[in-house]
Amino acid sequence: MKLVFERSRPGRGTRYLPECDVPVVLPEDPGRGIPLRLPELPEVEVSRHYTALAHQTFGVNEGFYPLGSCTMKYNPAVNEHAAALPGFTQVHPLQEAHTVQGCLEVERKLEDMLCEITGMDAMTLQPAAGAHGEFTGLLLIKAYHRSRGDTARTRILVPDSAHGTNPASASMAGFEVVSIPSDAKGCVDLEALRKAAGPDTAGLMLTNPNTVGLFDPQILEITRVVHEAGGLCYYDGANLNAIMGIARPGDMGFDVVHLNLHKTFSTPHGGGGPGSGPSGCKEFLSRFLPGRESPDSIGNVRSFHGNFLVAVRALAYLLSIGREGVPEAARNAVLNANYMRIGLRDAYDMAFDTVCMHEFVMTLESLKEKTGVSALDIAKAMLDHGVHPPTMYFPLIVHEALMVEPTETESRETLDEAIALYRQLAEEAREHPETMHQRPEHTPVRRLDEVGAARNPVIRYAYEV
Ligand SMILES: *Cc1c(COP(=O)(O)O)cnc(C)c1O
Repeated sequence: MKLVFERSRPGRGTRYLPECDVPVVLPEDPGRGIPLRLPELPEVEVSRHYTALAHQTFGVNEGFYPLGSCTMKYNPAVNEHAAALPGFTQVHPLQEAHTVQGCLEVERKLEDMLCEITGMDAMTLQPAAGAHGEFTGLLLIKAYHRSRGDTARTRILVPDSAHGTNPASASMAGFEVVSIPSDAKGCVDLEALRKAAGPDTAGLMLTNPNTVGLFDPQILEITRVVHEAGGLCYYDGANLNAIMGIARPGDMGFDVVHLNLHKTFSTPHGGGGPGSGPSGCKEFLSRFLPGRESPDSIGNVRSFHGNFLVAVRALAYLLSIGREGVPEAARNAVLNANYMRIGLRDAYDMAFDTVCMHEFVMTLESLKEKTGVSALDIAKAMLDHGVHPPTMYFPLIVHEALMVEPTETESRETLDEAIALYRQLAEEAREHPETMHQRPEHTPVRRLDEVGAARNPVIRYAYEV
């Protein structure tokens, strides 16, 4: 597809406004050196260009999108409607408080509901993403130890199955990361945890269910070990979709959490935002929260109130599905994942062949050994069939991983179609392995040089000067 700059022809631009007939107060050349180079196209060409681009994107409205760990569920349109109400879009964060009481009520109601769902006592909506929420939560842990004069606690324990943002956030917050191995069942190796926890432990970061889609049944013992060593427990709530309304991190012994409103609570995501990663904590940490008029507050982590319209969507979602709908969504997410897992277990090797939570991980290691067909080949082949591939090569502890999270919003028929496709591709891989390296065949671009794109990104149009 041509770039809009390549379609541009001098003088073809759309002019709605007549030539300016009053003195221009800006200098002729405001320091730019050369005139501003905007593409010149008639409106119809512009419209076609962007419509063609829109046809090339893929979203949950286009098809099945089981991108593990990302919870790409369908977001009901009523939430968009709520977030588009002028009373929410036309406010300014510097308005007098008495003029924005409705907006403040939205925030307060949402904070209360999220506290109830997580078992926390206080919450901030400031953080703009999951990783940002992690960073905020870790600063709370840091502030807590510092307030007690305990400066020896410099290490954060992170299981080796963790999402990459966990060690990254810990490191950003100034901690040293200690990796805790997983046991053969995919859960935390308790012996290794016991050995690692000590007077230098600031805390533990954990997601439960974890990134292999398993609920760690040792969770009470895990948080007890960390607390006994004097550390705090941080819950990465990106996987809350599996347990919301059923089990609460606060009851598992966690002191701090973050949630991904854009995953669990129905804001469209991908492509860079907007997101929201509220951080919650138990009462004893609440004086450290951002946005509080407390001398102990860690300070603001974002301007004003965070991504407010994401909070509006989350509240609309929670109010529309209600107290019964929250656990029902979680149960259906788990049911759908297990339905697919059972439907695929004789066609693909499961990394851990037990009942899973909202997602499961397959390993294509033996398929690759036998046929040369990798997880990447299978994922790319899916693109020819109008579905989004699962997450590839994550978690890192599983080789040739494909991680599938169907979510609760898919029907049984969609799951059956997906199962049939996955099975068909496994069969093709065994029968015609060589063709699998050529896929996809029917997409606008085929295999891309991903490393090249990351190392040498071309993000600027090369004008001939
Ligand atoms: C998505 C995710 C995160 C990070 O959330 P972002 O909003 O992408 O920063 C952290 N942990 C897990 C398990 C996740 O799936």
